[in-house]
Amino acid sequence: MAWRCSASTNAKLVDNLAAAQLLSTSRVIDAFKATDRGLFSPRRPYEDAPQYLGYGATISAPHMHAVAVESLHEYLYPGAAALDIGSGSGYLLAVMAKLVMPGGKVCGIEHIRELNDAAVERFLSSEGEQGNSWIKNGDVVFWTGDGRKGWPDPEIKFDAIHVGAAIPVVPESLISHLKSPGKMFIPVGEAGDTQHIYEIVKDSAGVVTHNRKFGVSYVPLADAEYYYSKGDNPLVT
Ligand code: SAH
Repeated sequence: MAWRCSASTNAKLVDNLAAAQLLSTSRVIDAFKATDRGLFSPRRPYEDAPQYLGYGATISAPHMHAVAVESLHEYLYPGAAALDIGSGSGYLLAVMAKLVMPGGKVCGIEHIRELNDAAVERFLSSEGEQGNSWIKNGDVVFWTGDGRKGWPDPEIKFDAIHVGAAIPVVPESLISHLKSPGKMFIPVGEAGDTQHIYEIVKDSAGVVTHNRKFGVSYVPLADAEYYYSKGDNPLVT
């Protein structure tokens, strides 16, 4: 089971995720091995559980990251464009960058500026000079804003969209950001109520299908005020 994937190092965590068949694609396993969760999670990085980042946000559990990236992996090829909404710690931007580079683009939207600034620092400590040039060249972009509205340029289309917070109804703005073909991984449902992962696929003819997968529990895709109002919740470093 997923929570049994906890380990003492990143390499062992990824091995456990693979042994549990939550990771199975070799290039995805390589990307997880090359991205040390210890540089993105302020506490207990190799425990298979979400960890608190501050401002009401958490870095998702390793098994959720694994399932999400496996779900999208065919759309995360070198040269592809990927969007991560509610990018939090920045961990998935680092994983996805390894899959879509060279030639790809990775965009993250996070509405809490303090979390996003910390995510850039975490990304740079993980990705070093390479990461610095990706950011400088605009190949990796950390945007502070409301992800429900989609990317600031509505004309940009993405092969893969990951949404890291739950929303009751999938916004049209996000579906129209999908390329044909393209795929979105999104938790749908009210906070505190039953939520499900949906895989939304737009085929090469532009036909969209919604597939309900499994039950989950995510923080909500909400107004920034909702997160700021979570009282004494400064950034966890
Ligand atoms: N996948 C990320 C974070 C998951 S927590 C990780 O694993 O690190 C969900 C994140 O969504 C939080 O950081 C929260 O601040 C952000 N979020 C919530 N509502 C949002 C919105 N409307 N627009 C952008 N980001 C949002």
